Amino acid sequence: MPLPFSGKQDIPKYRFGDWRRMLSDAVTSADELSTFFTIDQKSIASVTPTYPMRINPYYLSLIQHEDDPIWKQAVPDTMEIQDRSGEKDPLCEERQSPVPNLIHRYPDRVLFMVTKECALNCRFCLRKGRVGSRPSATDDLIESGIDYIRGHKSIQEVILSGGDPLMLEDDALNGLLHKLRKIPHVDIIRIHTRMPCALPHRITRDLVTILKQYPPLYLNAHFNHPGEITSQAAEACHILANAGIPLGSQTVLLKGVNDNSAVMRHLMRELIKIRVKPYYIHHPDPVRGTRHFRPSLQRGIKIMETLRGHISGMCVPHYVIDLPGGGGKVPLLPNDMKEIKNGRIRVRNYKGEMFEYPVE
Ligand SMILES: *Cc1c(COP(=O)(O)O)cnc(C)c1O
Repeated sequence: MPLPFSGKQDIPKYRFGDWRRMLSDAVTSADELSTFFTIDQKSIASVTPTYPMRINPYYLSLIQHEDDPIWKQAVPDTMEIQDRSGEKDPLCEERQSPVPNLIHRYPDRVLFMVTKECALNCRFCLRKGRVGSRPSATDDLIESGIDYIRGHKSIQEVILSGGDPLMLEDDALNGLLHKLRKIPHVDIIRIHTRMPCALPHRITRDLVTILKQYPPLYLNAHFNHPGEITSQAAEACHILANAGIPLGSQTVLLKGVNDNSAVMRHLMRELIKIRVKPYYIHHPDPVRGTRHFRPSLQRGIKIMETLRGHISGMCVPHYVIDLPGGGGKVPLLPNDMKEIKNGRIRVRNYKGEMFEYPVE
């Protein structure tokens, strides 16, 4: 059912750089949302005290109709509060935090959560129900994270995450990057952000001028649907790529959003057109309140079978699960290697044809 923007309030137009105003104009209540769409206010209002809503005007404008893939990612659903399965912290992130807001799971890299805020509250968030409970990253907490990194020479890479690290003001981000760059053993800085997708207006020339001062700096965006690849998102990626910042994308496999070969193929092709290399497809973690988004693993593997070989290898990310208890990420691959016999393996190609290949 296409929802009438007509008769309802039109979404205002904003310019690049207006991101702060867009954040303050974000829709956070059922009442506000009802000025744009015909909704069941009571249902939505029953979810937001537990899992807050935040939909900035740009992302809101991408919704074409009720329950479409953009809507599903942003608008609260009563299934979130009915879900009693899963856990608040299935990956044991809290236990692997030597200092607050920093996770040290792998020897050579850490995840540093520098804010708990985002430009869009994704309904399927891995840190759902915890983003608000963790202390926000005050200057003191950021300082203790930096001290930890400075004191551990095995850390070669720092991944800024959150929340969304690009929620920091330019000056704060510049100060943080400056301190990290001064640590001799930190080779790589990686930023995990949804901004190029969720609020591309944040990717200003001033921001990019800061980011390009700290190479090698990689940026992993997060796109889940071709409908998110707009001219504004393309422009944001264009100015980042032109500044020499390599771009990747992490996609989450989501039921009703992109758990479909044609949609996933289209998304991956659109990403490389805007110079974003697909990095991971994440199977959604068993986080309480997100059960309705989780497809089966078989479905994920089937989708991978329709990518590999059928479209450019540039478009094919790894499909990963994150093991419970902090075991880390493991790629799941279609089973192409069938058996080893007489020193030869039997292998299936992308068309399903069988071949033999010598082991040695
Ligand atoms: C995903 C993740 C990383 C990064 O893993 P890569 O495979 O290098 O992208 C690092 N630390 C934690 C805690 C993670 O969850």
